[in-house]
Amino acid sequence: MNRGLLIVLSGPSGVGKGTVCAALRRKQPELIYSVSATTRAPREGEREGVNYFFKSREQFQDMITHDALLEYAEYVDNYYGTPREFVDKTLAEGKDIILEIEVQGALKVKEKFPEGVFVFLLPPSLNELKQRIVGRGTESQATIDNRLSVAVEEMNLLYHYDYAVVNDQIDSACGRIGAIITAEHCKRERFLHELFRELKELTAAENVSER
Ligand code: 5GP
Repeated sequence: MNRGLLIVLSGPSGVGKGTVCAALRRKQPELIYSVSATTRAPREGEREGVNYFFKSREQFQDMITHDALLEYAEYVDNYYGTPREFVDKTLAEGKDIILEIEVQGALKVKEKFPEGVFVFLLPPSLNELKQRIVGRGTESQATIDNRLSVAVEEMNLLYHYDYAVVNDQIDSACGRIGAIITAEHCKRERFLHELFRELKELTAAENVSER
């Protein structure tokens, strides 16, 4: 059995990773979603084990100490991390798993899983990204400028990714991510191993019947 695909969906803050990932979860229920651990407080409507595993700083530190996280990063004064065991188990079962994480964490995953599929979500334009960051709340101009410059820096990390998907409309962005997953499943490397195994079995069976 082939191992599943590890798909990492990342991109600059404010690009809409969470929204696209939530839509993908609805549209492609066979795709397993990795639920992260975080030290941030739950937002209204968020559920333990569905949106996040909500942890205290001590509990999160414990997970780091016990090497229970595939990667973790600090983001806006909180920790976020991907529980390792669930990812390993899902891939070994031949199922695809998607991680929706910020860019630093994605780079760490790439070090450990270079065979993963790294998808970078882009805003339709920088101006659009600015509008989304401004539209989030009542931040000061300095905060907005700072977030925008961080987002522009994060955009430079695009070079580390395999694919770029523009988040112009959620449905079409999801469609393109679905197409990427299908194409990755059709890569010849995924078939070679299985073909050689079958060929070996066939040759062995023929040798037995010739004797
Ligand atoms: P939020 O607090 O809005 O849910 O998430 C904040 C940021 O943390 C988002 O960019 C999200 O992609 C990222 N994030 C969520 N889970 C993880 C994780 O397990 N690891 C890393 N590195 N980032 C995460």
